[in-house]
Amino acid sequence: MKGAKDEGFKTVLICKKERKSLYRRFKFVDEIFEIEQNSETISSECQEYLKEKSCILIPHGSLIAYSDIDYIEQLSIPIFGNKWILRWEADRNLKQELMSSAGLTTPQPVKSKHDIDRLCIVKLHGAAGGRGYFLAWNRETFEKGALDLLKQDVIKSEDDLYIQEYVRGVPVYLHYFYSAINNEIEFLGADRRYETDIDGLGRIPASHQLGIGIQTSSYNVIGNFPLVLRESLLGKVFSMGEDFVRAAKQLVPPGMIGPFCLEGVCDALGNFVTFEFSARIVAGTNLYIMGSPYSSLIYDDPMSMGRRIALEIKNAQNNADMKNILT
Ligand code: AMP
Repeated sequence: MKGAKDEGFKTVLICKKERKSLYRRFKFVDEIFEIEQNSETISSECQEYLKEKSCILIPHGSLIAYSDIDYIEQLSIPIFGNKWILRWEADRNLKQELMSSAGLTTPQPVKSKHDIDRLCIVKLHGAAGGRGYFLAWNRETFEKGALDLLKQDVIKSEDDLYIQEYVRGVPVYLHYFYSAINNEIEFLGADRRYETDIDGLGRIPASHQLGIGIQTSSYNVIGNFPLVLRESLLGKVFSMGEDFVRAAKQLVPPGMIGPFCLEGVCDALGNFVTFEFSARIVAGTNLYIMGSPYSSLIYDDPMSMGRRIALEIKNAQNNADMKNILT
């Protein structure tokens, strides 16, 4: 929103009642459309309001986490980017298909709990922000973790879980912007996450962890750290982004438009193993509201991801390219 404001747009924020007082503090929020619950983010009343204001909806993680994808696809308000690709983000099987088609190295998916023969990470579908993930190394540890989630009402059955090989290395999240107007990919930043409990475990010696009964841990995101990559990795970063854009064009027309993030682990040999993508702006880009080391290589002005989106809309308005960046 700050980026949109910097590029001269007016802004409307859709948010829950209890968050209103928080967002009122920021001058770049011109108007607030209040909702009672996250599930009604895009109610017909909300859509009418946005239409009246000639708004363009900028999708982010919460929209995918809390809204029904069928509903998002049927929205009659213009959405920045390709709304059809959001389903491919939310469904882990489609997600895997797109990443494989792009030729990205991915962790081995594990079809059934009976096939778990090494350390695996067990995930929920959708943009859950690491919530409810757990590690399993055999059927028993899978069932124990699943039972915990069933008891907490986080899942309805074991079928709601997705099992994937655990990859050893350091997590790296790559922030890209693909301009459908210039047909060009921009690499605008990277981050890593700060996650409970996993990042806190190192503060408790392993012997004590066992003593107090810690056996599994969650990956709930608390924040993000900035990251600058070893320069020799950059060539690969660009080619991965380009391969992803190429595959998205073929599988989900009109393809990947605007911001996206490839999320994975870099191993000891410097190989990227991609376990996720986000087909829209991600929270990690909030680190770079004043631009990033990478955006400074392209832009003289501080260029956040939000501002880059707004700039693309502005460029499209000037060049009658709007149809190429909205769905
Ligand atoms: P995600 O919500 O998928 O981005 O994952 C949350 C966290 O889980 C990541 O930041 C990683 O620390 C971890 N993670 C996810 N998938 C894997 C994997 N296949 N191997 C190792 N760590 C993973």
